[in-house]
Amino acid sequence: MPSYLLTVGMEVHVELETKTKIFCGCPNDPFESQPNSHVCPVCYGLPGALPLLNQEAVAMTVKLGRALKGVVAEETFWARKNYFYPDLPKGYQISQSTKPLVEKASVMIDGESHLINRIHLEEDAGKLIHSADGKSSLVNFNRAGVPLVEIVTEPDFHTPEAAKRFCQELQRIVRTLKISAADMEKGKMRCEANISVSTTDQLGVKVEVKNINSFRAVEKAIKYEYDRQIAALEAGGKIIQETRNWDDPKGKTVAMRTKETSADYRYFPEPDLPTVEIAEEIGGEIQLPEEKRAKLVEIGLPKELIHPIVDKNGFETVVKIAESSKEKAIEAGKTLVAIPEFLLLNEHDQIVFLALRGANGWSKETSAELIHKTITEKQKIEEVSKKFEHTTDLSSEVAEVIKEQAKAVADYKAGKEPLFNFLVGQVMAKTHGRANISAVREELTKQLG
Ligand code: ZN
Ligand code: MN
Repeated sequence: MPSYLLTVGMEVHVELETKTKIFCGCPNDPFESQPNSHVCPVCYGLPGALPLLNQEAVAMTVKLGRALKGVVAEETFWARKNYFYPDLPKGYQISQSTKPLVEKASVMIDGESHLINRIHLEEDAGKLIHSADGKSSLVNFNRAGVPLVEIVTEPDFHTPEAAKRFCQELQRIVRTLKISAADMEKGKMRCEANISVSTTDQLGVKVEVKNINSFRAVEKAIKYEYDRQIAALEAGGKIIQETRNWDDPKGKTVAMRTKETSADYRYFPEPDLPTVEIAEEIGGEIQLPEEKRAKLVEIGLPKELIHPIVDKNGFETVVKIAESSKEKAIEAGKTLVAIPEFLLLNEHDQIVFLALRGANGWSKETSAELIHKTITEKQKIEEVSKKFEHTTDLSSEVAEVIKEQAKAVADYKAGKEPLFNFLVGQVMAKTHGRANISAVREELTKQLG
């Protein structure tokens, strides 16, 4: 048997979390609300209803494009993608065709670059709910008109794992940019894979697999298609260009329809919306997960901790601690990954507990217990925090800490500078982590001075 090279391109749809829908003022809340409660003539596609563009959706897409170093169009237009389906009352989807908002972007994962062909913006359709007996279907239009960003990669992946890793990284990125929670189980992020196999340097006939609803399924569906296509070719058959559905319970792909080409959609410019000019200033500095990981490598954190620290929101804490000691930062990273309760704390609380633990030599269990107690005492914390949200006068708390921690204060004054952070941690603990940390530093410097 010749060796077959797998090639995969991904198409990922992500729902943007704007306040309102993309072409009308209805709330963008398709999940928690009563069916058909967030709808209007635009959502229903009633004759004469006119779309009005939501700038926030465009800004979010441009933000993503700039973060991924893509080429952002200076000007773009909308296109009608025509097809019939009961969840699409207009009979067309407003999307983008020849001039997407973003082209030629890329995603770096652990030093490896993956190319993105285009990122465009479009509207989501409604949702069909089929009755258990298969005799009737209901439609909910709350999702109709939710802004949807579509990310299309180059045929850039040669293993199922690489394709899965890309989807996971994309989820991290949109979460970092705060444009979508991208939960796959809620359908806020939906993956499709274009899969082919070949024994030459020419790409084989591609098969599109839809309805992949988890990261695990991305890997399984691609693996299944790879095996299926090789078996078909080895048996003397041909691969036909088609769309297949991933049946997760059965663990296989099932033929849906022979593949439509873009000509079948009869794209034409949307006459009810003007062209869009993109402002220069959208975007700004955002640290992507890859950049955070590179920073942790630089600090010298062990390889196996790097992904968990970034994924579990420990990055800021570790970097802050590294400013005074790399060893302590590595220790902090280990603790953050080992104690899941840390994930519920904000950066300041994390530092407080790490400082307490380091200073007292407490075991991880003791720290975890302490954190648990803190979380269950949330009510009390809220009361205390109210006080510290509205005051910058920390003189009595700082004075108490100086009195209680006489030895640490003496050591600090004798030149053990890192103890300053410990004292900050003590004051923060007194205020349940709610005081402004620079105000604490200022007051401590003043009283220790
Ligand atoms: Zn509406
Ligand atoms: Mn699409």
